[in-house]
Amino acid sequence: MIYAMTKIIDISITLEATMPIWPGSIGFNLAWEQRLDNGDDCNNSQIRCDTHVGTHIDAPLHFIDNGQTADAMNLDYFIGPCTVIHLPDVKKITANQLSQAAIPPTAKRLLIRTDNSQYLEQPHAEFKKDFTALEPNAAQWIAEREVKLVGIDYLSIGRYENGILTHAILLEAGIAVLEGLNLLHVEPGNYELICMPLKIAGAEGAPARAALRKL
Ligand SMILES: [Zn+2]
Repeated sequence: MIYAMTKIIDISITLEATMPIWPGSIGFNLAWEQRLDNGDDCNNSQIRCDTHVGTHIDAPLHFIDNGQTADAMNLDYFIGPCTVIHLPDVKKITANQLSQAAIPPTAKRLLIRTDNSQYLEQPHAEFKKDFTALEPNAAQWIAEREVKLVGIDYLSIGRYENGILTHAILLEAGIAVLEGLNLLHVEPGNYELICMPLKIAGAEGAPARAALRKL
């Protein structure tokens, strides 16, 4: 029997205090509670962070009153066939751009690589307010298809100034939103997405580890 070689690409941001964070966010902090080199029994740390830090999902509750919470979302959203497209030199992603992006009509999960990825990889990078994101008409275009998850390579799927409508259109259509991806080293094409959001009871979002497997 011949087994195909598979390659797993980690598309998560490393959670550390130096990563870019949304203005006003507490970001991410790891603090040692116990240290072997202090004579403690083990090394033991605590983390303190914003729910929407680094690579994370938005649950419907983020923008919809009484919407579904992160722990209630079926993992079926986050694991399965996935299409990655690359839209360089674009600031506002429109429905027109998506319609020209060779997205298969049956695409179930869509990840969008933009110029943003280069900003997430730089240590101590400042938050970039003019990051590339989806216009509401692009969200509407996605909502009218079979897509169950859409992801992007910065901290929000909608633009900084007026991203609420973009989020609301997607979440009300029952589409999972995956943000803060590092797609800098990912070629466009078809993959399997493996994403595991933390199962946080009642939360409107959750940090996640995400990877792509080239089949
Ligand atoms: Zn978010």
